[in-house]
Amino acid sequence: MEKIVSLSKRRGFVYQSSEIYGGLNGCWDYGPLGVELLRNIKEQWWRAMTYRKDVEGIDASILMHPRVWEASGHVANFTDPMVDCRECKSRFRADQLEDALCGSPAYKGRKAVKCQADGKFTEARQFNLMFKTHIGPMEDSTEVVYLRPETAQGIYVNFLNVQSASRQKPPFGIAQIGKAFRNEINTRNFLFRTREFEQMEMQFFVKPGTDEDWFGYWKRERLSWFVSLGMKEAKLQYHRHEPDKLAHYAKDAYDIEYEFPFGWGEIEGIHNRTDFDLTRHEEFSGKSMKYFDEQTKERYTPYVIETSAGASRSFMAFLVDAYREEEAPTGDGKMETRTVLGLHPRLAPVKAAVFPLVNRDGMPEIGKKIEEAIRPHFRVFYDDSGAIGRRYRRQDEAGTPFCLTVDSQTLVDQTVTVRERDSMKQERVGMDMIVTYLRERIQAE
Ligand code: ATP
Repeated sequence: MEKIVSLSKRRGFVYQSSEIYGGLNGCWDYGPLGVELLRNIKEQWWRAMTYRKDVEGIDASILMHPRVWEASGHVANFTDPMVDCRECKSRFRADQLEDALCGSPAYKGRKAVKCQADGKFTEARQFNLMFKTHIGPMEDSTEVVYLRPETAQGIYVNFLNVQSASRQKPPFGIAQIGKAFRNEINTRNFLFRTREFEQMEMQFFVKPGTDEDWFGYWKRERLSWFVSLGMKEAKLQYHRHEPDKLAHYAKDAYDIEYEFPFGWGEIEGIHNRTDFDLTRHEEFSGKSMKYFDEQTKERYTPYVIETSAGASRSFMAFLVDAYREEEAPTGDGKMETRTVLGLHPRLAPVKAAVFPLVNRDGMPEIGKKIEEAIRPHFRVFYDDSGAIGRRYRRQDEAGTPFCLTVDSQTLVDQTVTVRERDSMKQERVGMDMIVTYLRERIQAE
């Protein structure tokens, strides 16, 4: 993990938020390469989830009517049990003490469970994870609103709006990508548990009775999405929630887990939420949330199958999965360790780098022309500094799948050397074919 965090900072993937002020716990900023990777992950999700005939997209606001969160159960139930250490004042999630360490510098490395056994902890209290703020100029209790802790509710309250505008009939889904906020008691493991994060959620509305089949379908579909973008299948597993651990709204739930360096952790949840949410919003708003089937003349409240992925947690899983160090030849017969981010070409922040072999003989001018030809289509990087081997290594570490070198052969036949990141294989491609070549290679993967 330390290597990933340090590469993230060095190469401009992720920085600590407000770093010059000492950082803000649980908040992170995405740098130039990070923002590209994050956008690519979201783009791939959006394409997979909404470029199909039975799913529509929306973008709901972060602030919603406070009654939404009463109806959803978040005001009453979105809590974690919290304990305080009377001695060092550290706070812990009572259900996650196993791996926690004592917060006192005097007992560095001491397990929190030991402090608990010594009777230093308070009784567990329930702590609501929703961030509160005020809407309008009056800071009184009537004006309280919450930063949404999940994007799902923005979809439920718009269910009939979207259904009638798009003329969809169940089974159909509504997808959304957006920020969510949770005042987590302990943030940890880099991007895994943060206070501000992004979710990629889809709610699929189905006729009751067909819910179990659709649940199975989405469970399979979502795991294969990660695999289709190059994530190692052996690092992914399902974790079924035991019936006694199911959330209050769920009939069945599976997590898709990734094996991080610190152990298995959830990256996406697939939930059968029954008709809980729509029924509650009907109760609390007094507006019907039922669907009327014109053909069968039936009126019913659909069941909801939810697929809820963290964009930032997926980002971290893709980064961890792609990171490798390996021995590679330097070109002069020696071996050296190279660090590679083997990101899928569709996720890679920069798709191609262009190098002139030497800074003379017109090679920089040709290189710049190639860069200009690629730029409208793909993110491209031009680099003319240092030995060619070093330039390759820099791009390997940034995950760039293709490096194009202008060399003496280019001057003769207008071809460039294309070197592929993972295999390090080289081939010659005509300069005028570069954009087509890149498009084909990126799509073919
Ligand atoms: P956990 O048990 O880890 O707190 P959860 O079961 O509460 O997660 P969900 O409510 O199912 O998580 O949220 C769906 C997805 O949103 C998770 O799979 C995860 O990818 C992401 N997510 C949830 N909380 C956070 C967080 N604090 N930081 C980053 N991503 C998060």
